[in-house]
Amino acid sequence: MISIKSEREIELLKVAGDIVGQTHNFLKPYIKPGITTKELDDLAYHFILDHDATPSFKGYDGFPATICASINDEVVHGIPGNRKLKEGDIISIDIGACYKGYHGDSAWTYPVGKISKNKENLLKWTEESLFEGLKAIKHGARIGDIGYNIETSASKHHLGVVKELVGHGVGTDVHEEPDVPNYGKKNTGIVLKSGMVIAVEPMLNLGTADVCMLDDGWTVVTDDGRPSAHFEHTVLVTDDGYIILTKR
Ligand code: MG
Ligand code: MG
Repeated sequence: MISIKSEREIELLKVAGDIVGQTHNFLKPYIKPGITTKELDDLAYHFILDHDATPSFKGYDGFPATICASINDEVVHGIPGNRKLKEGDIISIDIGACYKGYHGDSAWTYPVGKISKNKENLLKWTEESLFEGLKAIKHGARIGDIGYNIETSASKHHLGVVKELVGHGVGTDVHEEPDVPNYGKKNTGIVLKSGMVIAVEPMLNLGTADVCMLDDGWTVVTDDGRPSAHFEHTVLVTDDGYIILTKR
């Protein structure tokens, strides 16, 4: 069942999304060489609690932390720990927060200090592909239109589109129906309706699209060890477009 949110639910989803956006803003200045991903996780944890929300991912299927922190060739679901960020790394930080039972979900990939031109392009193009995907959204459009735009944008730059992981609906669960793939054909898939809330989240690789799972059972990495980026917003579908709920 794909839920259409009521006015009241949309208000709560806006607050949850806003807390997620603010948490990103709050973390950004700390993303520097020398900080550990665990330190970033602690900062996010306390920030979310201080805003009357709870971290959506902590305890989700047993995930042990507030944020997912995925460095370089790590695509998603990296577990925060004692690894220190180094100059030239890129780090994807995925944040979910729950406010009065409603969630927001947004990931962003950040440079650590000065990064290579390749990585700079990867970040720029993955962010671009997110907004290309979002452009397809409005009442009456179809899920395939979003994936088509993302895939087309990624292919232009010869980036690998991760297929194993997809976007999703957001509401009283952080992951609801429908799936929102980062690939697809125009005019296919379910029809979007005003009041749906979905997370669109391209994961694009500099090399192969293929990924595998590390032994920790969480961290997804690229098969060829080349870097990956992840950009995600939770948005509300409207009559003529969309509203970003997880704005910075
Ligand atoms: Mg998500
Ligand atoms: Mg996310």
